[in-house]
Amino acid sequence: DALISQIAAGEVVERPASVVRELVDNALDAGATQITVRLLAGGVRSIVVEDDGSGIPADQLVLAVQRHATSKIASLDDLEAVGTMGFRGEALAAIASIADLSLASRTADAAHASRLDARSGELQPAARATGTSVEVRELFFATPARRKFLKTDATELAHCLEAVRRHALVRPEVGFAVWHEGKLVAQWRRATGGGPSQAAAQRIADVLGADFITQSLPVDLHLGPVHVHGRVGLPDAARSRPDQQYAYVNGRFVRDRVITHGARAAYDDVLHGNRQPSWVLFVTIDPLRVDVNVHPTKIEVRFRDGREVHQAVRHAVEEALAPSRA
Ligand code: ADP
Ligand code: MG
Repeated sequence: DALISQIAAGEVVERPASVVRELVDNALDAGATQITVRLLAGGVRSIVVEDDGSGIPADQLVLAVQRHATSKIASLDDLEAVGTMGFRGEALAAIASIADLSLASRTADAAHASRLDARSGELQPAARATGTSVEVRELFFATPARRKFLKTDATELAHCLEAVRRHALVRPEVGFAVWHEGKLVAQWRRATGGGPSQAAAQRIADVLGADFITQSLPVDLHLGPVHVHGRVGLPDAARSRPDQQYAYVNGRFVRDRVITHGARAAYDDVLHGNRQPSWVLFVTIDPLRVDVNVHPTKIEVRFRDGREVHQAVRHAVEEALAPSRA
């Protein structure tokens, strides 16, 4: 089973950023309002993710690091309508097979926190407020071949930051902080007051820069079963940031050709030259019309009907860029 977990880890964990993504997923699933990520050496030496979520009962800590013991999917129906970010029940087990993992957690009604060292299985009382801290040290110590493929600390840090950014853009009601080598490298405060669209715009400005807001237009369109909202960069804006193309399906960051192509098609009419526009697009669709379980890293999705999504994205972006044309 250790070997199976290591193979699973190979699929799930490419680099420290993969661990950050999974741990932040879990923190969000637990209802955290504040998530702090602490990294050493770009995350290769140490990744700590702390949250103020619901916590894990002491008697379930051991289960949490066992493969498939805890999958949030209880049935095939759940698989189709998966509502939470995590659903495979193996991220912690996979990470524990290739790194030193420890969990400290406390539920609201517990007298104290408990800490589990996944390697030794040792469970001890600990001190912390309600929530969970997961510590992952010496990633890939057991798979040195993998470790050799890692880039410099600065590159790994950049990937970790990007992983947090992807979550932060879609969860303005959650505060995020990232520390590297004891220095605060990113901080996005949770929205308080204002409406949801104000909060969303504020978070985009915090994460992507205030100029993203001033140089972009709001998108909001319902077409059939698809809702598309967010912001798209002005076609004539001076900024060209193709690295700032963020697409989400039902709150999950995705890389998806249908969405990308739909947005590009809308720009084709108004963009001259080959500049690459930036965008943040949130696609909402009946979960039964999208398969999110196509890849273990959950970045890819498959739509039941790609055309309806393509059309909705294209029309939504066209309407935002050139209202008279749409
Ligand atoms: P999955 O998220 O797919 O269920 P994971 O291996 O990522 O599987 O997590 C295993 C289980 O551990 C989760 O289902 C959850 O019950 C628990 N867990 C992990 N991280 C946290 C956290 N930060 N807060 C509360 N519970 C957590
Ligand atoms: Mg998970």
